Amino acid sequence: MNKKTSEVLRLLKREYPNTRCGLNYKTPFQLLVAAILSAQTTDKKVNEITEGLFEEYPTVDDFLLLTGEELEEKIKQIGLYRNKSKHVLLMCRQLKEQFNGEVPNTLEDLMSLAGVGRKTANVVLSNVFGIPAIAIDTHVFRVSNRIGLANAKNVLDTEMQLQKAIDKDLWSLSHRLLVTHGRRCCYARNPNCTDCIIREYCNYYKSAITSGSTLS
Ligand code: SF4
Repeated sequence: MNKKTSEVLRLLKREYPNTRCGLNYKTPFQLLVAAILSAQTTDKKVNEITEGLFEEYPTVDDFLLLTGEELEEKIKQIGLYRNKSKHVLLMCRQLKEQFNGEVPNTLEDLMSLAGVGRKTANVVLSNVFGIPAIAIDTHVFRVSNRIGLANAKNVLDTEMQLQKAIDKDLWSLSHRLLVTHGRRCCYARNPNCTDCIIREYCNYYKSAITSGSTLS
């Protein structure tokens, strides 16, 4: 890991010593459902929905008692709820039929499930199984490319570049640190560079200073 990368991670870790997964869950299955529901929705909104949902339907067998319309009704406050309802129920059937009702622990198997893309699979691998993974969500993509830990146009290239740049045992922590920094400081619009603890390492900041832009 080069000096810039280790310094950025060291400073972020000092700033955010207690990062955790933003989704609330009690079992691997519940995290899988919550992660599917979280596409283009905030973790906060998902947690509001899943609190009651997981109380009433804690397991895959419980979910399979629901019709598509019933699940839609329960999750209708979040975006894309019709598709998400379909995906979650199909994923539940796949879990039962192909994985004995257990959440699988490989990227390939996870990505074979309905509604599970690479980001969701990586979230499950790192949080449930403790397998090093860097899930690239909108925050990780934006922040890592601004800083210059990655220089990529899409999420897959960003993930590959971050995997090369960061020691494997720090992948999951790095994901959480970059998400937290994106939420609390490096906003999509008007990043708060003035108060940013890693600005001396940030390519975006340096080029803004060089070009004379006004930073917030
Ligand atoms: S200096 Fe600005 S752009 Fe760079 S990481 Fe900090 S807030 Fe984001």
